[in-house]
Amino acid sequence: MSIPALRQPKTIEEKIPTYNEPQNFLIVTLNDGKKLVVSSDAYHGILATGQLNRCVFCETEMVRDVICKERHKASENHRKILEGYPHIDEFKENLLRKLNAANYYCTICNDVVMMHYARRHIQESSHHQELCKAKARALSYKPYN
Ligand SMILES: [Zn+2]
Ligand SMILES: [Zn+2]
Repeated sequence: MSIPALRQPKTIEEKIPTYNEPQNFLIVTLNDGKKLVVSSDAYHGILATGQLNRCVFCETEMVRDVICKERHKASENHRKILEGYPHIDEFKENLLRKLNAANYYCTICNDVVMMHYARRHIQESSHHQELCKAKARALSYKPYN
């Protein structure tokens, strides 16, 4: 004689790709004062590849583990290396960084982009969508501390 449980309302799913791990975000302020909020992994150049996480700036691979990843991001060595890869002024809010002689790193998309392809990349709709999200997040973003 149990009363049937009420159906739970469906949770509204955001139209963003789902990640296995919680995403931390951080704010990037441009020279002109514009703000963008990007994922912490993207900012730190951490790419997930199969079983591994790879730091594109330090060129190191690590086990795909949150603690391991956070430890790497917080490490002095990584932070020092990261300083050597500023966002290029010329690309403004598109947040490209020169990775090496042939590649840029797109902080917006969290991906490596071939240098000769960069101009096209920033006009692509996938990049544009990510950029819009980064701008939208900045409107509602409240840093923790
Ligand atoms: Zn690193
Ligand atoms: Zn991009």
